[in-house]
Amino acid sequence: MNTHSPSETAQAAALDRSSNAAIDARRVAATPRGVGIGFPIYAQRALNAELWDVEGRRYIDFAAGIAVLNTGHRHPKIVQAIARQLDCFTHTAYQVVPYECTVALAEQINARTPGSHAKKTAFFTTGAEAVENAIKIARAATRRSGVIALGGGFHGRTYMGMALTGKVAPYKLGFGPFPASVYHVPAPMALHGVSVQDALDAIAQLFKADIEPEQVAAIIVEPVQGEGGFYVMPVEFMRALRAICDRHGILLIADEVQTGFARTGKLFAMEHYDVLPDLMTLAKSLAGGMPLSAVCGRAEIMDVPAPGGLGGTYAANPLAVASALAVLEVIDEEQLCERAAKLGQVLTGRLQALQKKVPGMREVRGLGAMVAVEFAQPDGTPDADAVKQVQKRAQDAGLLLLTCGVYGNVIRFLFPLTIEDAVLEEGLAILEKALLG
Ligand code: PMP
Repeated sequence: MNTHSPSETAQAAALDRSSNAAIDARRVAATPRGVGIGFPIYAQRALNAELWDVEGRRYIDFAAGIAVLNTGHRHPKIVQAIARQLDCFTHTAYQVVPYECTVALAEQINARTPGSHAKKTAFFTTGAEAVENAIKIARAATRRSGVIALGGGFHGRTYMGMALTGKVAPYKLGFGPFPASVYHVPAPMALHGVSVQDALDAIAQLFKADIEPEQVAAIIVEPVQGEGGFYVMPVEFMRALRAICDRHGILLIADEVQTGFARTGKLFAMEHYDVLPDLMTLAKSLAGGMPLSAVCGRAEIMDVPAPGGLGGTYAANPLAVASALAVLEVIDEEQLCERAAKLGQVLTGRLQALQKKVPGMREVRGLGAMVAVEFAQPDGTPDADAVKQVQKRAQDAGLLLLTCGVYGNVIRFLFPLTIEDAVLEEGLAILEKALLG
């Protein structure tokens, strides 16, 4: 029943939609605080690496929708592809009446992901859903239950996503119990005194203390931890994981939801390793701002679940699939892998130069344009406050920065790879000032 009186409806129509503060007050009243927001500014429009709020203020966007906009806001080719699809149909439910563009996208992903073996790809809507389905497929294919994930890893907010995520606050607080048979081992992190050997010893210990390897279906790993702090997994570690998997019949799942689609200087981060995963999860920049995710894997593994076992009403949404095909074209035409490598070098150089003047900048690290800077106090204690201050100063000067890290003490950079040189330079100048205080 509609309980609003006509005068209340008129009042709502007269709401101030051009004031960030007024909308934010309504947000607080109308939506739960559990859906946290990064900035109390409200988007009006955006183009490539720039965004304007409802008050007409311009921001340079180094957050890019959390790694979703490697091809920028509203790339003309991508907008055109979505518009063309909009003129045909917006939804049939792929599982009811399928459409060719999804088959074409699966073919492209199968061909372009690492490894020349036979692959198949299934589409879903969110990154978490891709992770859920990768685990479903791995369990069905191995007929085993155990899954090993890494401390600090992030795999989504659904129940299996939370179970796999190696960070309690805020993701798991109050939400347990989680699905069983999920085990965590520390991720190698030289900066925090965890060597590759330490991480491997923890897996050996797990096999002694908690679960026999013959009961483990999969090991899931982000080649570069995203939310966890942009820690790049060492090559020796990935090789060792592959060897453990091969020895015990375990499947290796690479979660490339954040690392994929040119961000690291290759189309997929796993191309930096001489190791092939059995399954990969993809999302975020796959469809340049449209909700789409995928699991790509060895054909024989992907084919284990019975018809109807995989899918979802909105899985492979046609607008999102059309967008994804255009994303791949843009990545090729604009050579965004090469550009990511170059942009990463520029950013890393600038940050490293600043490290001499800002001692709190403990480490600058990354792969391609997936770059971050970690802050610590002189005694090594993680410094989340410093990060918040830099983020606030940058915002005040018109630059949106994202943080990450188990301690919230890392600033990560995810600007569109299509960013214009002048806009990048402007953003870097603001960043430098914000870092210098
Ligand atoms: N895996 C990784 C590596 C991620 O970075 C994320 C999102 N930050 C997810 C899974 C979950 O994706 P989504 O938020 O689309 O569910």
